[in-house]
Amino acid sequence: MARSVPTFTGAVDEDTLGVTLIHEHVFVTDPELDVNMPHPEWNEQAMIERAVQILSSLHERGVRTVVDLTVIGLGRDVRRVAEVAARAPVQIVAATGCYASSVLPPYFRLNGPGLVVDGPDPLVDLFIGDIERGIAGTQVRAGMIKIASEGSELTPDVERVFAAAATAHLRTGVPITTHSDAAARGGLAQQDALARLGVPLEHVVIGHSGDSLDLPYLRALADRGSYLGFDRFGMEHVGRDEDRIRMLRALLDAGCADRIVLSHDAAVFSRVTPPSWRNEHVPNWRMSHLFDTVLPQLRADGVDEAALHQLMVVNPRRVLTGGA
Ligand SMILES: [Zn+2]
Repeated sequence: MARSVPTFTGAVDEDTLGVTLIHEHVFVTDPELDVNMPHPEWNEQAMIERAVQILSSLHERGVRTVVDLTVIGLGRDVRRVAEVAARAPVQIVAATGCYASSVLPPYFRLNGPGLVVDGPDPLVDLFIGDIERGIAGTQVRAGMIKIASEGSELTPDVERVFAAAATAHLRTGVPITTHSDAAARGGLAQQDALARLGVPLEHVVIGHSGDSLDLPYLRALADRGSYLGFDRFGMEHVGRDEDRIRMLRALLDAGCADRIVLSHDAAVFSRVTPPSWRNEHVPNWRMSHLFDTVLPQLRADGVDEAALHQLMVVNPRRVLTGGA
């Protein structure tokens, strides 16, 4: 039986997902700064137009689905992205979750079981509500849960976010994806925590694994069943694409093709690294880079179409549907 995946424009059959970018951002903002210190390059209507344009050009390159991993902490605003989704030819999947890599915002620190304002954990309510009812009063339901940690260990606040994500996953089946600190081999502690919480590790993407230069580390993550996010192609201020390609090819040679997903972690607009900065310093950091440069290079290096189909279509579909 075909499974369905929620998108901004409704649930879609898994067979329509097609070529999928599993870790991108439409708009990364900071609502408090946007009110008090508007960014000179931010113009909402112009950026919505730009997003529609970029997603249309991806559709011309064969992309059918983009996962927007913008969650709490990154300025998620699904009403704004819904305007893009209504006009873009690709499907956009929304995410729930919390991007707090060490300390939670004060609201969460004071509200929850045994805390100053004692009651149910608002993180759990948020994640499950976003998945089951819709995000912020909209009909848009989340199709992924995004969590984060920095370094090689989880802080107590991050442990709490992981526990909330595990609760939401075990109840809904929606997959978990992480921001991990690849240089610190941070994915291992993430796997340990999630496994302890009862999450099957094949329902987890260890994000930013493509930034690691440590093959035994990556193989250890894959051997435990998780997907490795090679999800920052073009992000040359963090790592070189030639290294990502070298590590990717080593993993393919090691028989790990069924455990890897590719993406860019790019954004149409991000306040932290605005368009002018990206144009000047990381011109390849855009959502078309895989199709214009990386995949053609892999083909030239002898990676066959079946492997590329696995990376771009089969694996993301399995992640999003929890399929085997
Ligand atoms: Zn990201």
